[in-house]
Amino acid sequence: MSRASTGAVLWLLLAGATPTHGAVLERTGYVMGTMLSVVIDSPDSALAARALDTAFALTSRLDCLLSNYRPDSELSRIGREAPAPVSLSPLTLDFLSRTLSWCDRSAGALDPTVGTLVHAWGFDSEHPARPEANVLDSASRLCGYRKVRLDTTAQTASMPCGFNLDPGATGKGYALAVVDRALLGMGVTRWNADFGGQLFCRGTDSLLIPVRHPRSDTTALAWLTFALGSVSTSGDYERYFDEGGKRYAHILDPRTKSPVQGRASVTVYAPDAFDADALSTALFVLGPQAAGRLLEQAGAGALFAEWNGETLELIIVGAWPSAR
Ligand code: AMP
Ligand code: MG
Repeated sequence: MSRASTGAVLWLLLAGATPTHGAVLERTGYVMGTMLSVVIDSPDSALAARALDTAFALTSRLDCLLSNYRPDSELSRIGREAPAPVSLSPLTLDFLSRTLSWCDRSAGALDPTVGTLVHAWGFDSEHPARPEANVLDSASRLCGYRKVRLDTTAQTASMPCGFNLDPGATGKGYALAVVDRALLGMGVTRWNADFGGQLFCRGTDSLLIPVRHPRSDTTALAWLTFALGSVSTSGDYERYFDEGGKRYAHILDPRTKSPVQGRASVTVYAPDAFDADALSTALFVLGPQAAGRLLEQAGAGALFAEWNGETLELIIVGAWPSAR
């Protein structure tokens, strides 16, 4: 997200969090490779301070467990120690089981084993480029979420040698959902966050939330409002290269093994932050026609920005909380 729009989002979050009955505490830090800002609104300032500590401790813990940039994370070890089963902590197990559930429901449009393909296209580097056909071919044989074996009784996961798990599509949403559960358990009912552009709000009503415009840093694509839930955007403007008049961006269609074409962004609102993150990536792959059934399962709505190379066409599907 650009500086200008991040500033706008934060300002709106803070404005929306004007305390109705107590103290508002805010903290911003770098975690999971991006910026996390958390605002807690509580009548008890000691509780608010503990809640901030909890939010940052949990997200840092999840970074250690799930990061594919850390060779010692539990997720990386499933690849490194393949095909042997790796013992997992309850959080990693839960993350994988929720992710694999959306893989099934999206008929494989969401697939964290695209890690090998992401690497072949160079989207995990500074210089993404079209891979040679033989490189793409070899990489595509090392993908397929159905080959990931999760044993919830033994609390282990395993997969074939050469497979790679990429948490990029669901990690931030999972972290926001885990933090929400923990804060609710502590009695915090009013808080919000901006996690690298994915927003979460609980109990802060009359918040106006801008949807990032995929082709402009100065205007919003749309405005939303809701008192509980999360907004996640998947877009073609973050990691990409342009070639032959086409844009090749970081979200891959597991069926074609290549970047999705014809779509600039998909923004999903869902009551649950994990669902919002999983769905924005899955629907970026699937498109608006297949979206209704999936969105309904999560009480969610989506705004698609379809791109033909010159103009954007906006399509709304499902329970989209438009600000009127
Ligand atoms: P997001 O911005 O949440 O849509 O996540 C995009 C990131 O997820 C990419 O940068 C890749 O690391 C990874 N990814 C790309 N394509 C897929 C896919 N089809 N399923 C799951 N993860 C993907
Ligand atoms: Mg996502």
